[in-house]
Amino acid sequence: MDLANCPRCGRLFARHFRDICQNCYAEIEKEYEVCTEYLRKNKGATITVLSEETGVSIKQITRFIKEGRISLYNAPNLSYPCEVCGVLIREGNMCGNCLNRLRAEVQNATAGSDRHEGPLSRRTYQIGDRLRDKE
Ligand SMILES: [Zn+2]
Ligand SMILES: [Zn+2]
Repeated sequence: MDLANCPRCGRLFARHFRDICQNCYAEIEKEYEVCTEYLRKNKGATITVLSEETGVSIKQITRFIKEGRISLYNAPNLSYPCEVCGVLIREGNMCGNCLNRLRAEVQNATAGSDRHEGPLSRRTYQIGDRLRDKE
């Protein structure tokens, strides 16, 4: 049996089908229903209002959106935070600013790769690590 600690509540559970325990799975399904129900009645809700009114965390709502379970198409004011700076966006993982900055840093790091590792390329790696941590 494949036992693991649930990343959401920390309890030990048998990992068969999911990465989280049955309890958390049921809770998330409930949160999903509350969110979609609220959005059905309030199509113009923003993520802040949705989170406040339903008690579901912005992080979880963001996950629903990224999983494609909550569609932005039907919710014109709904957006989610950029993974780096937290500015609200409607597509991708990062806002345009952060994307440009990351691209520029990667480019600089690649251009300087003949030389020994400068502080710039190290910083790029750190940004990469930070993004992975949030997964
Ligand atoms: Zn759990
Ligand atoms: Zn950003």
